[in-house]
Amino acid sequence: MQEVAARRLEVSTDLERALDRGELVVMYQPFVDMTDSNPIGVEALVRWNHPRWGRVHPGDFIGVAEECGLITALGLKVLEEACTQQQAWLAEFGNEGPFSLSVNVSTRQLRDHRFVSDVWSVLSRTGLDPARLILEITESFTLDNPENAGSRLRELKQLGVRISIDDFGTGYSSLAMLQELPIDILKIDKAFVDHVADDPRRAAFARAIVRLGRTLGLELVAEGVETGAQRERLLSLGCHMAQGFFFAPALTADEVGHMLRRARMLRQTAGDRSVAAAEREAELLTLGQSLAM
Ligand code: C2E
Ligand code: MG
Ligand code: MG
Repeated sequence: MQEVAARRLEVSTDLERALDRGELVVMYQPFVDMTDSNPIGVEALVRWNHPRWGRVHPGDFIGVAEECGLITALGLKVLEEACTQQQAWLAEFGNEGPFSLSVNVSTRQLRDHRFVSDVWSVLSRTGLDPARLILEITESFTLDNPENAGSRLRELKQLGVRISIDDFGTGYSSLAMLQELPIDILKIDKAFVDHVADDPRRAAFARAIVRLGRTLGLELVAEGVETGAQRERLLSLGCHMAQGFFFAPALTADEVGHMLRRARMLRQTAGDRSVAAAEREAELLTLGQSLAM
């Protein structure tokens, strides 16, 4: 116990310093339309480049940040950096870039009464169109205090952002509550995706979530897709959007830029080829006409 407490203290002290020294970096995992694998957005995922421990994953420090109250500052930093980055991609790629930016928000951040005005300030400072921002919340928030949760989410929706339920199916959501809350997207937890192609029981859960989502008019994103078989099965169940190592892992901002530049280049090459093909076709037509005469 003492060791765990000492470790937590060390992490929280280091984390405070990390925020000031810029040791936190934001990575971006694309989510795609599985019908053509085109990226339709990115999810911001924070990493901590610790001077001694190397790259630390969020699972090892988000909990501590929540306990010691640093999550508000950390979350705001991630939101601001991700919105600034998304604006830069929009400036360079327009609609060829990621359309949506998804940012994780912890329950503790949402409970803070300043949260809505903080989001509004970041949107105004960065100039990002709120329609491009998705806030990912977990089921625990909606359970916490359903009435407060509902009004907080409605305030956020008034800003024009979309709300997504992360890791859906692993919490304790009351289905009736889902109907009441202004939710736009359900992210199907990896646990249901893992064996969707080889275990009929798990496939039944995924199918039920897809049906529920569609009935409620929600968008669906499958999390943690790792194989082509999972992709095919999810598509056949009616889920078209996904995220997972099968498509792309979390990438640095530079890597996303590179990926988008390459995609644009390929599209242009394909475009040039079709122009060349059209020119060749026109030539043949003229040739054919001249031969027929
Ligand atoms: P999440 O929001 O559900 O994010 C998805 C996690 O699954 C990410 O882990 C991602 O790298 C991983 N993942 C994606 N595709 C696959 C796959 O195909 N296979 C496997 N095995 N894993 C996959 P990561 O980046 O370690 O993040 C873990 C969690 O930490 C996130 O889960 C999210 O709840 C939290 N988190 C990350 N960034 C932030 C943040 O800025 N703020 C807050 N509050 N939480 C964050
Ligand atoms: Mg998430
Ligand atoms: Mg998730």
